[in-house]
Amino acid sequence: MTVKFLDLYSQYLSIKSEIDNAIDEVIRQSAFIGGRFVSDFEAAFAEYQQVTDCVGVANGTDALEIAIESLELPLGSEIIVPANSFIASSEAVTRAGHRVVFCDCDHETYTICVKDVLNKITPATKAIVAVHLYGHPCNMDRLLELSRQHNFAIVEDCAQAHGAEYNGRKVGGIGTIGTFSFYPGKNLGAYGDGGAIVTNDAGLAKKCRMIANHGRIGKYDHRFEGRNSRLDGLQAAVLKVKLKHLDHWIAARKGVAASYRDRLAAIPGLAIPGEAEWASHVWHLFVVRTEQRDPLRDFLTESKIETGIHYPISLPSLEAYRYLARDCSAFFSHWAAPRILSLPIGEHLSTDQVERVIEVVVRFFKDGQRGRFVQ
Ligand SMILES: *Cc1c(COP(=O)(O)O)cnc(C)c1O
Repeated sequence: MTVKFLDLYSQYLSIKSEIDNAIDEVIRQSAFIGGRFVSDFEAAFAEYQQVTDCVGVANGTDALEIAIESLELPLGSEIIVPANSFIASSEAVTRAGHRVVFCDCDHETYTICVKDVLNKITPATKAIVAVHLYGHPCNMDRLLELSRQHNFAIVEDCAQAHGAEYNGRKVGGIGTIGTFSFYPGKNLGAYGDGGAIVTNDAGLAKKCRMIANHGRIGKYDHRFEGRNSRLDGLQAAVLKVKLKHLDHWIAARKGVAASYRDRLAAIPGLAIPGEAEWASHVWHLFVVRTEQRDPLRDFLTESKIETGIHYPISLPSLEAYRYLARDCSAFFSHWAAPRILSLPIGEHLSTDQVERVIEVVVRFFKDGQRGRFVQ
């Protein structure tokens, strides 16, 4: 039995006629840029994420960069970013003309560590990027409290957290502004690149829409120099179809996570991911931690079970951030990077496949520790 990490083709087959019809319709209307398909999806996604405004953009990285730009912070402001994330979270800060300040992540949820945020605040701090990593919401009440005390904005990076909730509220509209990625492998993925910005601030939404569309407010009426970063009609139509199925797919992820958590919790030497009491976790990734990471990964690979590592190198340790000359080797995220492993999760997994993953992991820790990798 093979267990894939991700299976977008099987997902397509499960909704093939809806997707094919949607794509046909966009082509028939030649509604490739702008138009009804984009505005329909924006409205549907705003409603789903419980916000007043949604602006479709070309990808999740642009969404972050444009969202940060729309805040009009003084150039060179310090923006706090968690060390455990995809590089887009920090790249966007620098690209928008600001300075990245890395902070550590929480041991249980791997999201931004509030205590360490406090250590990193200076008078130059103007924003933080709250990454709802792996689909687990950050501790928003504590972050909102700090943002009020120290007067900084909160940009929620929701690239992995479509549908996730903090105390019953969807992420994205809790802070100042929120961003999403529709990269194909995300919980809500397009058939190419796509992204969105969400907010309850109509002024910010308008600014973002202008930045993403050449600074224009009407045809050939450009109020400033913007850029070209738009969600296209085909992606919007695909996303609108997939959005209807998202809650069902999230429920499947929760089911897989519950089985893993139930059956793997008692294994000594294996740390399973936590879920805070405020969280409705959408399990984009199920990340375990062990000293035996590489042998476990090899054992799973030999057993035809695909895994991933998110992320193998913590952001401050990347070559790209050597220029910061900050020693982050004491960070938990740095220590955890060589110990974390993402198990397969998603609606593509059958009950048998989930059982198989559990069985192989259990067997590794029973026999594997003694070097007996018996199949
Ligand atoms: C995927 C991702 C992004 C970037 O999204 P793209 O659409 O690939 O540009 C940003 N932040 C996080 C946490 C991500 O996982």
